[in-house]
Amino acid sequence: MSEPTATIPVVDYLVLDDGPAHLVGNRCEDCGATFLDRHNACPNCGGRRIERARLPETGRIESYTVLVRGAPKHIGPFVSVLVRLDDGTYVKANLIDVDPVADAVDTDRPVRIVTYPVGTDDSGTEAIAFGFAYDTEGSAQP
Ligand SMILES: [Zn+2]
Repeated sequence: MSEPTATIPVVDYLVLDDGPAHLVGNRCEDCGATFLDRHNACPNCGGRRIERARLPETGRIESYTVLVRGAPKHIGPFVSVLVRLDDGTYVKANLIDVDPVADAVDTDRPVRIVTYPVGTDDSGTEAIAFGFAYDTEGSAQP
């Protein structure tokens, strides 16, 4: 298998080419509500002034579940998490590099965005997805 010639994020709110991988959301200029999906108006206040906002790379696990998908692909088990980023924005993703059992999930530990390849097309472009992993950088801080 040859090396990828280019990479693309699997979702348009994942940014790979501007410093560390991070997410970009849409923030209401009136109430500050932030969401990943594009909206014509704020779902919180109805405001129509929406700006793009770089989101924090770290957060906390708000809730989680261990999932197994059945036929036809039989995927899992894996840990699906709802992360509350440091600015309050909620993001749904998978928790990476952890045993897929409830006892292995520690909601007191901060998490950080991580990326991983999910496939390469015939032209050599590699698709990159994101998830979260326990934040080893932040664990050294008091
Ligand atoms: Zn709003």
